Amino acid sequence: MINVGDVVQVHFNNSRVNGIVTGLSDGSEVLINVKMKYILKKESITLSPDFIGFCRKLAEYYGSSLIDFLKLMLPPRANKKQEAIYTAVVTCENLPDKAVNQKRVWELVSTSGGLSAREISQRTGLPVSSVQAALTALIKKNILSKSYRVIDRKPKIPAGERRMTPLNLTQDQVLALKKIFANLENQRKTILLYGVTGSGKTEIYIRTIEKVLNQGQKAIVLVPEISLTPQMLAIFQTRFPGRVAVIHSRLSAGERFDEWHMIYNGQADVVIGARSAIFAPIKNLGLIIVDEEHESSYKQAEHPYYDARAAAIFRARMQNAALIFGSATPSVESYYKVVTGEYLLVKMTKRASGMPLPELEVVDMREELKAGNRHIFSRKLVSSIKQTLSCNRQAILFLNRRGHSTFVICRDCGFVLKCPHCDISLTYHFDDKSVKCHYCGYRVKAPDICPVCGSSHIRYFGAGTEKVEQEVCRLFPGVKALRIDADTISKKGSLERILSSFRKGDAQILIGTQTVAKGLDFPKVSLVSVITADTALNMPDFRAGERTFQLITQVAGRAGRADFPGKVLVQTYCPESFAIKAACEKGITKFYREELKNRQKSNYPPFCHLLNITLTGSKQDMVEKNATEVKNMLCEITEGGLEIYGPAPAPRYRVKDNYRYHVLLKSKKVETLIKVEESLKAMKKQRDIKIAWDMDPQDLL
Ligand code: ADP
Ligand code: ZN
Ligand code: ZN
Repeated sequence: MINVGDVVQVHFNNSRVNGIVTGLSDGSEVLINVKMKYILKKESITLSPDFIGFCRKLAEYYGSSLIDFLKLMLPPRANKKQEAIYTAVVTCENLPDKAVNQKRVWELVSTSGGLSAREISQRTGLPVSSVQAALTALIKKNILSKSYRVIDRKPKIPAGERRMTPLNLTQDQVLALKKIFANLENQRKTILLYGVTGSGKTEIYIRTIEKVLNQGQKAIVLVPEISLTPQMLAIFQTRFPGRVAVIHSRLSAGERFDEWHMIYNGQADVVIGARSAIFAPIKNLGLIIVDEEHESSYKQAEHPYYDARAAAIFRARMQNAALIFGSATPSVESYYKVVTGEYLLVKMTKRASGMPLPELEVVDMREELKAGNRHIFSRKLVSSIKQTLSCNRQAILFLNRRGHSTFVICRDCGFVLKCPHCDISLTYHFDDKSVKCHYCGYRVKAPDICPVCGSSHIRYFGAGTEKVEQEVCRLFPGVKALRIDADTISKKGSLERILSSFRKGDAQILIGTQTVAKGLDFPKVSLVSVITADTALNMPDFRAGERTFQLITQVAGRAGRADFPGKVLVQTYCPESFAIKAACEKGITKFYREELKNRQKSNYPPFCHLLNITLTGSKQDMVEKNATEVKNMLCEITEGGLEIYGPAPAPRYRVKDNYRYHVLLKSKKVETLIKVEESLKAMKKQRDIKIAWDMDPQDLL
C-alpha cells in the first residue's frame, strides 16, 4: 500500500531514485505498477499530510520547489551506529590450556553476557587485537556468537554547569504565565513575550512547556545557533530529563540521524534547536517557542531561503499549536504586529534577581581624539576596567569585527590591500601575521613593503578583536583575557571551553564579537563595553538603526545579572544617533515609535514586503545586461502596486570572482511578490547566469 507522505525508492530511467509520495492520482494502479521499495527497510518513513502541507506552504511563499523543504524534514543520510557484541552459545567448554587468551575471553563472556570487543579488552586488560583474535577463534568453534546492538549517539551535554530547580516565580513571571495560559485555552493568539534581559524568560518557556506536555502534546524551542550553549541545554535536560532532543549544525550526521529518529518515533517531548529544528517531525505539536526572536540568524540566507520565524507561524497554524516569540528587543516587525492587534503582548519589565537594569553611558570618542587619546579605549573605559578588576569582578568587551586591523594601507602611495577575488579590503591577523579576506577566506602573508611603490610605511587601520586583546595586554599586564570570535571557536567544543573557563573565573576579561551579546548569563560580570557602536550603525541597510539598538541593549544585558548592579560604556563617534540614544536611555517604546515612523515614511517593512533578487556571474557586463532585462520583464507586471528598484551593483559587488547585481521589489501585498517568484522561476531556466530571490530579506548586502 502506498500512502501520501511515504518515502519510497523507485526505478526511474534505469536507475533508482528516492522520492516522497506527495499525492495519489485517481489511476493509482499506475503507481502500484511502478516497482517501489521503501528506502529504509526497517522503519519506513511517512511524512504526515500536515508536514507536506507545511512544506508546500513554504515552497509557495519562498518560490522554491516542494522537495527543497521536504528534504529538511527527512533524516540526514546516515546509518544507525552498531557495535558487535558477543555472547556464549554453550554453557561450558574445555579449551586447551595453551589457548590462554581464548580461555580468559570465554570465562568473562560466559559469566557476563553480551560484551563488545572494547569492553572485553577493558575488563581483561588484553589488547583489542588479541581479544579480536580470540573472539574469531571462539566463533569459529561455535562457542561464542556474534550479534549487533545499536549505539545511541546522544550528543554529550556537559551536565551540572548550572542546575536549575523550580524557582519561586517573580511577580512578573506569575502575571506573564497567567496571561499565557489563558491565551492557550481561549483565543490562541501568537504571543510576543517582551521581557528585559534577565527577566527570567527561560522559566516562562519551561512552565509553558510543562503545561503543554501535561496535556499530552509536544514542543519545539528555537534558539539562535549560538545560544545553544551547554548552559541552556543543561537547564532543559535537567527539567525534562531524557525527553529532550537537540538539533544544531555542530552535530555530526550520525548524531543528527539518531536525534531525528528519537523525534520521529515520539520519544522526544521537547525539541530544542537552531532554525532547522522547525522541521522536526513532531506529530502531536502543541507549542512552538522562538527565543531571541529578533535574531537575523533565523533567516537562512541561501538556497532554500526561508525564515524560521515565518515557518513557525505557518507550522503553528497548520498543526494548531500555540506560538510564543520571546525577546528583550523584539524585531520592529513583531512589535508592529502587537500594535495592529495581531499578536498578544506579554511584558516583563524587571529582572528576576530584583537588581536594576545596568546604567548605560555614552562615551563620545571625538572628545577623546580632541584630548589627544588616539587609542581604542577611552580614558573612562580604562578607569572602569581598573575598578572592575580591583573588585574582583569581570568585564566583557564587545566589538563586531574579528582580526587585528580592518584594513592595511601604504602611507606613501595610499594603496589599500584588497582581496583579488572580492571587492573588499583585507583584514590583518596578528596571530599568524597574515592578511585575510573575510568573505572568501583568501589568505596571504602580510607584506613588509608596499606591493605598488615598495615603501615600507605600511599602516594598519581599524580595530578588531585581536587589537582589543593587545590593548588589554598593554594596559593591564598580567590580567587574563579570553577571546571569542570566528577564529577562536572554529574547533568543535572550543566555544564551550572558553565560556566555561570564563564562568569559572579563569579570566577577568572576555573579548568577543556578536556571540558574546547573545543570551549569556555570567553572574560575575559588572562591566560591559561596546568598543565601537558605529560599525552596525553604518551598514547600508534599512535595519541598521534597529540592529544597533538591539545590539547595545543585548550586550548591556550581560552586565549585573546577579547580586550587584552593572555598568555599560558605549563608545561612539556618533552619540547623536537616535538608535544609540534610545538604547542608552532605555527608551524602548520611544525607539519603536520613532523607528516605525521612519519605516512608514520610506516605505520599508513592516509597511511593505520586500523581494530581493540577486544576479550573479563572472562577466560584469553580462550580469548587468541580464539584470536590466529581468527588471524590464518585471515592469510589465504592474498590478498590485509593485515597486521596482535597480538594477544596482550589490553592496558586496564582487565575491569570489563573481559580480553581483540586485533588483529590489516592494509591494504591500505579499501575493504580488509570490506571483513574481513564479515568473522568476521561468526566467531562471532560460538564463545561464545565476538568479536567486530572497523573500523578506534580512540583509541587503
Ligand atoms: P532572560 O532570558 O529573560 O534574559 P533568564 O531566563 O536567563 O533571563 O534568567 C535570568 C536569571 O534569572 C537566571 O540566572 C535565572 O536563573 C534567574 N531567574 C529566573 N527566574 C527566577 C526567579 N523566579 N527567581 C530567581 N531567579 C530567577
Ligand atoms: Zn605604496
Ligand atoms: Zn575574497
